Amino acid sequence: MKIYTSHHPPFPIQEESIFTFLCQRHFDKHPRDKTAYIDAVSGKRISRGQFRDLCMELGWGLRSEFHNQGGIPLNRGDTVMIFSSNSLSWPIIMFSCFAAGLKPTLANSAYTPREVEHQWNDSTAKVVLVHPNLLSVALEMFKGLGFNESEAKRRIIIADPDWSLPDTTTGDYVHLGDIIGKGKLQEEEKFVGNQSYETTVLCYSSGTTGKPKGVETTHCNLTSQIQMIDASFLPIIPQDCILGVLPFYHVYGAINLLMYPFFAGIPVCIQVKWDVNESCKVIQKYCITILLGVPPIFLNLAKSDATEKYSMKSLRLLSSGAAPLGRPLMEGLRSRLAKLGSNPWISQGYGSTETSPASHIMNYEDCFRKFGSVGRLLPNLEARLVVDGENSIDADDGKPGELWIRGPSVMKGYLNNPTATKNTVTPDGWYKTGDVAIRDEEGYYYIVDRVKELIKYKGFQVPPAELESILLQHPDIADCAVVGIYSEKQATELPRAYIVHKNTNTQGLLSPLDTREFAKSIQKWVQSRVARHKYLRGGVSVIDTIPKSAAGKILRRELRELAKKEALDA
Ligand code: AMP
Repeated sequence: MKIYTSHHPPFPIQEESIFTFLCQRHFDKHPRDKTAYIDAVSGKRISRGQFRDLCMELGWGLRSEFHNQGGIPLNRGDTVMIFSSNSLSWPIIMFSCFAAGLKPTLANSAYTPREVEHQWNDSTAKVVLVHPNLLSVALEMFKGLGFNESEAKRRIIIADPDWSLPDTTTGDYVHLGDIIGKGKLQEEEKFVGNQSYETTVLCYSSGTTGKPKGVETTHCNLTSQIQMIDASFLPIIPQDCILGVLPFYHVYGAINLLMYPFFAGIPVCIQVKWDVNESCKVIQKYCITILLGVPPIFLNLAKSDATEKYSMKSLRLLSSGAAPLGRPLMEGLRSRLAKLGSNPWISQGYGSTETSPASHIMNYEDCFRKFGSVGRLLPNLEARLVVDGENSIDADDGKPGELWIRGPSVMKGYLNNPTATKNTVTPDGWYKTGDVAIRDEEGYYYIVDRVKELIKYKGFQVPPAELESILLQHPDIADCAVVGIYSEKQATELPRAYIVHKNTNTQGLLSPLDTREFAKSIQKWVQSRVARHKYLRGGVSVIDTIPKSAAGKILRRELRELAKKEALDA
C-alpha cells in the first residue's frame, strides 16, 4: 500500500461544535464591528457581533418561539430543511440551526416538489425554512406527502431574504422576523468530545452511483476543513472582500463562502446568482478581491464584454472548484484580465461533498507553474491512488489510479444507508472518490478521469441513475442510459440520454423522422419533471440496445465514445 501524506504540518482536531469554533473560540480574532455579510443589492451589512447576536436570537426562535406561535416543537438533534436561494438571511439561518443544536439539510433551490420530497423524507426533516418564492413548491411537496394545509403550516417558516422586511404575500405563515428578537439562547448547544463527531449538516450527493444520498457531515469534519483551507489560503489583507455567488445549499458555497470567510474575518458580499453583467458590477462596486467560482463562471468572465465595462482591478484571487478548470481556459482568462490591468492568481481546488469538500487546493503562488493541477493534499489528509482496490494495489509513481482519501474531513457516512457507506468508505477509513488522478514528483495532483457515474453540469450534480429511473417511467421507453458529454463551448458536461423505443425490437426501427420527434418529445417530457440543471442539454439519441456488460452493467464509456462519434458525424 502506497500512502501519500500532506506536506503541511498537522493541526490538532478541535472537538467542539462548529458554532463554538467559529462564534466563540475564533470570534475575537477579528473586531466585533467588522462586516461579516453584505447584501449586494441593498447594500445592507451585518457585523460579526450583530451576526452572532442574531444567530442566538433565531436559535431561540427555532427552539421555542416557533412552537409558541403554533409550529411543531423542535429539539436538539432534529433536522430542518433550508430551501432558499442565496440571501442575507441564509448564513443567519444556518448558524442559528448550529447554535440551537439542529441539523440543517440543504436543498437545491431549483428542485421540483418531487425532488424536495425525496430529500424531506430521506433526511426526516421536521420543518422547512423556505424562501417566499419557493413556498408554492414546498406546499406542493406537503400536498404530495398528504399533509393538509394546517399541518403544512406548522412545519413552514418563511425565510425572507431580509428578516426585517417580511414578504407581504405570505402573511399567514410564521416568518423569520416573527421569531427573531423574542428571546435569546443563553448559550449555544455544546457538542464536546465524542458529540463533536455527531452529524451537523446533511447535503445530498449521489456519490459514485445511484440516487442522491444524505451525506453526514459532522462538527469535526467542518472545523477540520476550515483549518485545512486556512493552511493553504492566501494571506488575508484588511481590504479583502469575497463574492458570495455560489449557491449556499451546495457544500462548496456553504463552507467556502459562509464558514471560512467568517473564520478568516473576510466580508462576504452575497449575490443571488451569477449574472456576468450584474456580478461584474458588484465586483467593481464592492471592490471584490476574491472570487470563488466554477469553470462556466470563469468562461463567462473570459468572454464577456462586461469585464470591460467595470473595473476588475480589485481582484486578487480567482479560485475554481466543483469541476475541472482546464489549462486553455485558465490561460485565456489570465491574458484577458491582464489586458484589463487585473492580474489575479487563478487557482483551483478539488473535493467532494463527502470530503466536506476540499481535499486539494492549488497554492496560489504555484498556480501558473502547475497549470491544470488541483494542487497538493491538505493537512491531516492521506491519499492513495488505487488501481485494484480488492487486492490493495496502488499505482506506480506518476501513473493514474482512483483517488482515495482518508482524514478528519471525510464524512461519517450516508444517512440510513449502510450499504452505500460500506461501498464508499473502507473499514479503515478510506473514501473512494470515483475520480482518477495522477500525482507528480512534487506532490501535485491532476484529475484525469472519472470512474463513477456522476455527471456535473456547471458544478451541479446530475446523477444518471435518477434521470434513468425517470426515463423508464415513460410508457414508450424500454431501456435507457444517461452519460455526460463535455462541451468546450460551455466549459461543462451536458447530460445526454440514450433510449430504446419499446417497439424497436418488435415492430422494426422507427423512421428517422419519428425518431427525431420522439427524441425531442422525451427531452421536453424530462424538463417537466426535474430541476433545470438536470435537463438533457446534451440531447437524446434513440438506439437499438443499451450496451451492457455480462453482469448487466451499463457500459457508459462505450456510450461516451459513441457520443463523440455522433458529434463528429453531425
Ligand atoms: P460534489 O460532491 O458535488 O462537490 O462533486 C464532487 C465531484 O466533482 C468530484 O468527485 C469530482 O468528480 C468533481 N470535481 C470537483 N472538483 C473538481 C476539479 N477541480 N477537477 C475535476 N473534477 C472535480
